[in-house]
Amino acid sequence: MRIKCPCCGKKATVYSRALTTDDVNSVYARCVNTECQRFDHSFVSHVAFSHWIDPKAAAMQMTLTHLFDQLPASDRMAMAAELSARV
Ligand SMILES: [Zn+2]
Repeated sequence: MRIKCPCCGKKATVYSRALTTDDVNSVYARCVNTECQRFDHSFVSHVAFSHWIDPKAAAMQMTLTHLFDQLPASDRMAMAAELSARV
């Protein structure tokens, strides 16, 4: 993944990331511009969740997952077995 260097505006390469919150990642990047590299211009940017590309599909997936997780363990196992039989 490459992002824009805040100093020169050229591409910077992400070399590490850390989860800051559930929706935000801190990405550690280093600029590929030789002038920036001379001064070791590494920086941290934040990448945050914005929105779903297909909200209906995401909502359906989240709802089904939530409902499945609310079932008693025996019902989850029975449902998993039934769904496996259909494949
Ligand atoms: Zn740069």
